Amino acid sequence: MDEALARAWIAAVAESVRAEADRLTDLDAAIGDGDHGVNLRRGFDAAVAALDSFEAGGAGDVLGKTGTTLLSKVGGASGPLYGTLFRALGKTLRQEGSFAEGLQAGLDGVQQLGKAVVGDKTLVDALAPAVSAYASAAGDGEAAAARAAADAAAEGARATVPLQARKGRASYLGERSIGHPDPGATSTALLLAALADVTGR
Ligand code: ADP
Ligand code: MG
Ligand code: MG
Repeated sequence: MDEALARAWIAAVAESVRAEADRLTDLDAAIGDGDHGVNLRRGFDAAVAALDSFEAGGAGDVLGKTGTTLLSKVGGASGPLYGTLFRALGKTLRQEGSFAEGLQAGLDGVQQLGKAVVGDKTLVDALAPAVSAYASAAGDGEAAAARAAADAAAEGARATVPLQARKGRASYLGERSIGHPDPGATSTALLLAALADVTGR
């Protein structure tokens, strides 16, 4: 990934989050506190604004700056988690690691911070299969890998519907969290769909 693609990705995420903010917030109203769309819209709009005046030395800087901005501008669970994801991804790219390695480092960071495993009905349910799918398809090129990751994330998000939440606010609902998609898994699917869109252009 080069700097232009990283910038295009974050711009596309911001656009997608803006378009889907109400839906994300409705999902979070059902099993959380109804702020997920607002949180992410604020965070990614702030990231786009910060990047506008940021002189980056490559894609790693762009993604690291995105992560730092999300950490400072988004409260709640998702800010630190997505902030950690982008910071780890940026750090890996700055150290000449591959994008697949960066995604894995991001997932590791998210899991260290939030202690969620697949099946806990969190964004990890979309991110973990996406990271695996990207790595498996990496040999087919960036666009194919991004598409595979986006498909896996969407499937992972759908698969959260029948689960009972074991982490985050939704876990306070116990069995009443069953039957709803997890908001964070849904936004992770948007993030990877945006990656597939800009990579496939
Ligand atoms: P908050 O719950 O603090 O209001 P958001 O609504 O922005 O924050 O984000 C909620 C999402 O964060 C959940 O749908 C879930 O995907 C994710 N999440 C919450 N806790 C964790 C965790 N411990 N590990 C991974 N993801 C989590
Ligand atoms: Mg919330
Ligand atoms: Mg909140």
